[in-house]
Amino acid sequence: FLEMREVVKRYGDLQILNGIRLDVEEHQVVCLIGPSGCGKSTLLRCLNGLEPISGGEIRLKGDRISGPGVDLNALRRDIGIVFQSFNLFPHMTVLQNVTLAPIQVLGMDRAEAESRAMTLLKRIGLEAKAGAYPDRLSGGQQQRVAIVRALVMDPMVLLLDEITSALDPELVSEVLNIVRDLAEQGMTMLLATHEMSFAREVASKVCFLQEGVVYEEGPPEQIFGDPQQERTRAFLKRII
Ligand code: ATP
Ligand code: MG
Repeated sequence: FLEMREVVKRYGDLQILNGIRLDVEEHQVVCLIGPSGCGKSTLLRCLNGLEPISGGEIRLKGDRISGPGVDLNALRRDIGIVFQSFNLFPHMTVLQNVTLAPIQVLGMDRAEAESRAMTLLKRIGLEAKAGAYPDRLSGGQQQRVAIVRALVMDPMVLLLDEITSALDPELVSEVLNIVRDLAEQGMTMLLATHEMSFAREVASKVCFLQEGVVYEEGPPEQIFGDPQQERTRAFLKRII
């Protein structure tokens, strides 16, 4: 469904991704784990076209989505991304934040965009906050709105980059619950996370990245229970 082949990313002389080969099947939840700086965020940013890749190829449903001539608007409609820092526009209400892209990028009319947005906000229990500005929301609520803002585009794949890292511990579960629901509904997701117990529970596949390559991948039971590579074992020992 989403295929990465020998994906390379360089910043100047620094090579960050060293030939990533990774497949995400439709309806799968793939978790990226690995030490800080191994390239998780860089990979997600490349998949969404926020960064051009320096080599290799990325395909979505067989179509090339990397390299010259790619329609970035179409790509960002097909692949949504949510960041650690929620990045809501502070001068816009929740509803305005959520409807901006469908109106501006998809050309949806306002009434339809608002109706879709309200349906999604209802689903996460935030319809009462539709008229509120982001600074009136808790971090967990802001992050849930950021997820809705990605979902309103009806993406084929959702990328989530450490979406609970900036949250107080008591707010983490309300955001993870949404990811869990999305997984149950069959949303295809690729997420970078430090929440190992969550990865273990929700992942179809876990990929351990180290120095810009997929060092080991497998079902969560294998990666967490019986890693085959010494480096994977050492990493997990350090953080669990
Ligand atoms: P973390 O777990 O801390 O989020 P990560 O796996 O997401 O780490 P990345 O953010 O992808 O790591 O960073 C990988 C490497 O790329 C780091 O060494 C970082 O300094 C470098 N890097 C990221 N963005 C840039 C940039 N715009 N210019 C130069 N180097 C960059
Ligand atoms: Mg990161």
